[in-house]
Amino acid sequence: MPTVPNTDQAAQPAETIQPLPDFADRLVRWQRHDGRHDLPWQVRDPYRVWLSEIMLQQTQVVTVLDYFARFTARFPTVQALAAAPEDEVLAAWSGLGYYRRARHLHRCAQIVVEAHGGAFPQTAESLATLPGIGPSTAAAIAAFCFDERAAILDGNVQRVLCRSHGIDDPVPSTATTRKLWSLARRLLPEAPDIAAYTQGLMDLGATLCKPRRPTCATCPFVEDCRARRSGDPQRLPVRQPTRKTRPERSTVMLWLRNPSGGLNWLEKRPQQGVWPGLWSLPQFDATEQALQFAARFGRVIGHQELATFRHAFTHFELTILPLRVDLQVQPGVSEPQGQWFDLGEATQLGLPAPVRSLLMRPMSATDAPPPSVLRG
Ligand code: SF4
Repeated sequence: MPTVPNTDQAAQPAETIQPLPDFADRLVRWQRHDGRHDLPWQVRDPYRVWLSEIMLQQTQVVTVLDYFARFTARFPTVQALAAAPEDEVLAAWSGLGYYRRARHLHRCAQIVVEAHGGAFPQTAESLATLPGIGPSTAAAIAAFCFDERAAILDGNVQRVLCRSHGIDDPVPSTATTRKLWSLARRLLPEAPDIAAYTQGLMDLGATLCKPRRPTCATCPFVEDCRARRSGDPQRLPVRQPTRKTRPERSTVMLWLRNPSGGLNWLEKRPQQGVWPGLWSLPQFDATEQALQFAARFGRVIGHQELATFRHAFTHFELTILPLRVDLQVQPGVSEPQGQWFDLGEATQLGLPAPVRSLLMRPMSATDAPPPSVLRG
């Protein structure tokens, strides 16, 4: 995410980039005629706009549509979300990944209710003080709901601006981000058009000016887009070379079952580290450790190593070796960090995506792997 706030303090020196003529007018006209108008969060309700903006960070629209419908049915207001237990919020978020977003979302709702009487602040500057709301998200909420002339600059908008204005400085970099924020602010239209303009930037990036094979023929900037005129619009934005590959780790994930009771052992993860606050299968460095742990609960009937799979985190890649152990559980034995759940209960919890994938496999499944790389 861009890190330069959309405030006067962050105003940059005058740029040499010449804005395309009538950029805002052309974009607004295009959005009104050809943009998207039926997304469920295209309303002036800051709760729904905020929710969608958070969900859309790192998640595709097609996925968010489904989650947004379920989330708003379960938490129809910011008050309902603020009052919900964290477990319930994480469960509703389960599968979207990046669980800090969900925890920030919950905390933000509580602050809106406790400190702002249940009404979202109405300026980008004050919205950006809330947990999980960066400058671009704050600007989007302020533009859509309160007609503030505030500039957005998410990844899609960076791409549109780099291409339309022929900016070939590498992204992400602090210098380029500053330049783009400056340009984004200079391009803003007058307040009455700000919602359509902001939506237009998002729509153009999502539907025409896509990362690969942009559909320039129907773009409002087809005549003077500098990247298109260069003959290779897809070349922009120029990506900063990645510094290094992510380190690799591996873990044995113990799927402990009590088949006679149809129960699965799950543990609540700590609030720090990966998958904070979610329910997960216990993890070990080696199979022997996992089997020793399993034996504490009763007599092991059998165990099976399932096919390994990989899970991508932001900072490392995890190879998961699932070990399924069936037990005859000795009554009264437990461990404080976990508990037994039947499958129906387990799927209502906030679970990491690979754990959900494992648990949802039919009981008769043997070793067919879940999808090779999962995020979340
Ligand atoms: S003309 Fe093509 S590259 Fe340029 S802004 Fe439009 S879709 Fe993007």
